[in-house]
Amino acid sequence: MTTRIEATRLIPGRGDVVNSGVVIFDDSAISYAGAADGAPATPDADVVVTDTVMPGMWECHGHFIGIYTANIDEVWGARPQLLSMRVTADARRALHAGFTSVRELGGLGSFLAFAIEEGQVEGPNVYASGGMLSMTGGHGDVHGMDIADARSQIARHWGEDNIVDGPDEARAGVRRMLRLGARVIKIHASGGVLSQLDDPHLPQFSKEELEAIVDEATRMERLVAAHTHGKRGMMAAIDAGIKTLEHGTYLDEEVADAMIENDVMLVPTRWVVEFLTVEGEEKGMPEYAKKKAAAAGAKHADGIALAVDKGVKIALGTDIFGVGLWGRNGEELALMVDCGMTPLQAIESATANGPDTLGPQAPNAGQLLEGMDADVICVSGDPTTDVSILATTENVTHVFKGGTRYKG
Ligand SMILES: [Zn+2]
Repeated sequence: MTTRIEATRLIPGRGDVVNSGVVIFDDSAISYAGAADGAPATPDADVVVTDTVMPGMWECHGHFIGIYTANIDEVWGARPQLLSMRVTADARRALHAGFTSVRELGGLGSFLAFAIEEGQVEGPNVYASGGMLSMTGGHGDVHGMDIADARSQIARHWGEDNIVDGPDEARAGVRRMLRLGARVIKIHASGGVLSQLDDPHLPQFSKEELEAIVDEATRMERLVAAHTHGKRGMMAAIDAGIKTLEHGTYLDEEVADAMIENDVMLVPTRWVVEFLTVEGEEKGMPEYAKKKAAAAGAKHADGIALAVDKGVKIALGTDIFGVGLWGRNGEELALMVDCGMTPLQAIESATANGPDTLGPQAPNAGQLLEGMDADVICVSGDPTTDVSILATTENVTHVFKGGTRYKG
């Protein structure tokens, strides 16, 4: 069955909007995307008429972990089987909100990816990291229990222990993530907010550990994503050859210049900072996180605005993690516009830039171009004038993933 989408405007993901555009696909790839004038005839096509057609969006930093609160300890107090059931609903929410691809940076995503690929769960394409490599006492450790329990809890919930110390263990840690099916390697290169004892300003992992991780990941054709708030952690990550910085809270001119020079992308996760500031308290954010969240919140938007201004390449990521929060991923676009992007730049960060966060594992997707995967959404309204319409699931009227219709 051929699908033909006729739109008032076609947003290709990168480049100019085409007024009166058509997208055609009859299998998993797009066969035509462009002006209605040049479109081939498709007499037997299933025709969809819409305001806007654009590529399916990319969430480049999320966690499928199945909790209801803003307290990570909820994970360790629950059975992994139950948490796993819950994330299947979050996967569906993301897809129906127009997100056809998710880079999942720690949690149950690697298992979810298999179930979705098998066709047993309805959800986006998931490119998962397995766990999140962390040094002992780092952001990916569990500080409120002894180390043996922490390791076994992490392994029990997410498939493998992710605490590593020294270059050899760091390398072995990458290999453990690969045996979970990791498509990207996630590490913690600075302290974080939702962990008890570490300081977001301080770097985590030594130079030797970072280099071992990057070396092993690169050899296995995986890109490394580094959680970083503080400047020293960001600079160390860039020096070690890491290609995406997550959060980037205390980003300054020197960091932005180094990112551009070394072809490093930023995944800002503005959403989670806003969420913790506005809703964290009622969602049970632990006491220890409140001060850290407030301090990071005060600086984060300035860092993102600077990155936008300097021309750092940015991909959309929210750090969304909770049950039912998934599906709100599109709120990030308006937050990016608040930080200085044009609506079209925000859409590019949410579409065409997404696959670049996967390096050699990237699919041929993210734009409406002939030959690319038919990950396509229809939207009622014009997101180039009001990008906030992409925050509401109901405005996304049709969702196609790999040419298959999941909504509409
Ligand atoms: Zn995260």
